[in-house]
Amino acid sequence: MFAFHGIRSKILVVILSAALALMLLLALLFVRFVGPSFLALEQDSAGRDMQRVMAAIDQQRRLIALMCGDWASWTEMYAYARQYDEAFYQNNLTAENASTTGMDMIAVVTADGRLRETHFYRNGEHYQPVIESALAPESPYFPAIIQPLLRPVHSEAERYQQRHLMLYVEDHPILIVARPITLEHERDPAGVLLMMRALDRERIDELSRNASVEFMLRPAGAMRPIVSIEGDRFLATLANGSAYDGVVADKLLWLWRPIPEFYGDQVYTVLSLPRTLTLQAFSNLYWAIILLCVFTLVLAFVLYRVLLRELLNPLRVVTDGLRNIEQNPELNLQLQEVGASELRRLIRSFNSMNEELNDYRREIELLSLTDPLTGLPNRRQFEQVIAREWLHAVREKTALTLMIVDVDWFKRYNDFYGHQAGDHCLIAISEALQKAVKRSTDLVARIGGEEFIVVLPQTEIAGGKAAAQRALDIVRDLHLVHEAGGARKIVTISVGVKSGVPSATDTIDDWLTQADQALYRAKQQGRDRFDIADEREPSAKA
Ligand code: GH3
Ligand code: MG
Ligand code: MG
Repeated sequence: MFAFHGIRSKILVVILSAALALMLLLALLFVRFVGPSFLALEQDSAGRDMQRVMAAIDQQRRLIALMCGDWASWTEMYAYARQYDEAFYQNNLTAENASTTGMDMIAVVTADGRLRETHFYRNGEHYQPVIESALAPESPYFPAIIQPLLRPVHSEAERYQQRHLMLYVEDHPILIVARPITLEHERDPAGVLLMMRALDRERIDELSRNASVEFMLRPAGAMRPIVSIEGDRFLATLANGSAYDGVVADKLLWLWRPIPEFYGDQVYTVLSLPRTLTLQAFSNLYWAIILLCVFTLVLAFVLYRVLLRELLNPLRVVTDGLRNIEQNPELNLQLQEVGASELRRLIRSFNSMNEELNDYRREIELLSLTDPLTGLPNRRQFEQVIAREWLHAVREKTALTLMIVDVDWFKRYNDFYGHQAGDHCLIAISEALQKAVKRSTDLVARIGGEEFIVVLPQTEIAGGKAAAQRALDIVRDLHLVHEAGGARKIVTISVGVKSGVPSATDTIDDWLTQADQALYRAKQQGRDRFDIADEREPSAKA
């Protein structure tokens, strides 16, 4: 389970931190760039709304100024200002006739500064007292609005000059434009002509419709609650350089600005714009971030699962398998093919390599246990077999026979027939010895030059003697000519036999020594025979 703890937790940490970094990056992106750009867009759009409203109000001023300027430079108006004329009044200033001007009031101040007449076409009862007191000679507005226009004109600019006055009446402002009543080539104005238009609820609604922005007009004195609204202050700066104060309240965006170019009461244009779009955008943004974060986490999880399935878990199977192979090399195990295709290819390569190695290993093992000349088991294999059989015999208290076989006069054979002939002779004898043993558990091994050893498990002395005799007979029957040998002039062998049930205190070396001593005796007694080791015979150790 924890074999891959290292790589697994590392991958988990890497994936998780990547996901976290991605989420942070997303959040940062939205908070630092996307969010602010929405706000800037909102404020920019508010600024442009304000600009449209200001333009609409200025349009009203210019409308009054145009009409007033038109009438003020009219010859008949000049005469009328000098001298009241009932016909002029009836033709131009009655409600029916003046309604085409679109003005709410037309007033005439004579050259001596006296407000001679005011004609109201709407709400006169409200406007009259306010306007008359504002234009009276003792009013603070008089020196600023009327007096300069009564002075003799010295230039075209002076002839066409105008004064703007704004008064806040009831709950709305009124716009008044004043022009000197002049004639070309006349230096002295005949008086001052004033025209007025009220920006009442009805007109503001109309302007709102035209500018497509809801707005309010508030006197400076009523601005305190608006100016002190809690929220983020901002300055909406437009490309043309105009800037508007504003505040972002919770669900509304407020913008205000004094209407310029008018003397008198200061009035502010106030915009209160619902932030529905921006708030919707922010809410969408918020959900987008959450969704993206969730998506990132899901992606990270899927990535981890895929890595787990395709790489980490298969790797664990592979390492477990490798450990198993390492611990049991003789089992010739194969790794299970698991995981991604690359991993499977790797495992396949490993398996075929391992198989090849196993073949080599078996071959080498075989070589290391076999005598190359005769193909018989060698001394190493004999040692393995005798160790096993010895243990078995001691444990089960069964008999065991060991025979040491030595070719007679073999040095002479070599000397006489040559070494190669000697080798052929050894091969023939090895085959003969194999024929002399019967059981599959019997073992014939070549343990040295022309010495062989035979292990006969579960074989008593009688069986041992029989086997030794068979070996002597079969070798004799080969009739391998040995001119330099014994009396028969053929190749013979001598055999030392040791049989019995090995006791726990016996050792293999004891037995081998005893068998060797028996062999020695066989040689002494004339060769071509076997001798039996006597159990009472003292061992080499004793
Ligand atoms: P004895 O009857 O007393 O055993 O006489 P021997 O000549 O056989 O005496 P010994 O056992 O001392 O001689 C061993 C000889 O066997 C020496 C060597 O010439 C020969 N020999 C040993 N190994 C080989 C081998 O692999 N091939 C050949 N051709 N001869 C070998
Ligand atoms: Mg010998
Ligand atoms: Mg010999």
